Amino acid sequence: MSSPMLQTGQRDSDISVSVLGIRVDRLTQHQALDYIDQLISLRREHSEEVRCQQVITVNTEFVIEARRNTAFRACINEAELVVPDGMGIVWATRYLGRPAPERVTGTDTLPELAKLCAARGYRLYLLGAAPGVAESAAERLCALAPGLQIAGTYAGSPDPTEEEPILERIRQAQADVVCVAYGAPAQELWIYRNLSRLPAAVAMGVGGAYDFLAGRKLRAPKAMQRMGLEWLYRLYREPWRIWRMLAIPRFMILVLLKGQKKA
Ligand code: UDP
Repeated sequence: MSSPMLQTGQRDSDISVSVLGIRVDRLTQHQALDYIDQLISLRREHSEEVRCQQVITVNTEFVIEARRNTAFRACINEAELVVPDGMGIVWATRYLGRPAPERVTGTDTLPELAKLCAARGYRLYLLGAAPGVAESAAERLCALAPGLQIAGTYAGSPDPTEEEPILERIRQAQADVVCVAYGAPAQELWIYRNLSRLPAAVAMGVGGAYDFLAGRKLRAPKAMQRMGLEWLYRLYREPWRIWRMLAIPRFMILVLLKGQKKA
């Protein structure tokens, strides 16, 4: 059975934009959550007939990595939902004339997803991060979303030899939504490899979201987030990220060149 967005056939024409060959869906966080809600309802109604669907929050580093990593590119372009995580992506969609309405980050979306799960009785599984972190994040989410049912938490590892036992844990937990924190692109590729066997309606990579929720890492002040400077704060806290963040200027130059070619 196909998913609601595929059924409407709208994805290519109305919803999506290609940024350097990588698909981005132009939805607000609210619309993305509504869509996730539909996916979960559909799976609950039709159970195993509906395969697990992947949600990806794409940032500039993802795009640069996906241009050279074929599997990662396929994973993003085939995902059910690809939302713009980061002002760089939002800026690019504007520059290319097909603007995304807003930034939809994994870290901001997770608490809202938890509220949706609490309201609708969906069970949330938190996979990944260092031992103990998912448990602390789960406590915080339960405080933010009273009534939330945490199906389970488990650090595990993205190593393929651990896949079967992890899938079994998720099956036993009867999860509707699985969040995976193994860092990009490992978490997205983990979900992509296991999509057909993942016993849940939706799976989403969330990067450092549990670390922020658990208070293990500090997030940039709101003003910096609004100005699109969250990356600068992360760089200040974690200078080793400089190598990954070189993707930002590369991304901007490539978008500017591509935009000019089109003009
Ligand atoms: N992580 C993990 N196992 C791994 C690699 C990473 O559990 O083999 C976790 C790590 O502890 C952290 C998250 O994945 O909680 C990645 O966070 P990061 O901020 O690096 O992700 P990003 O958002 O930058 O991709």
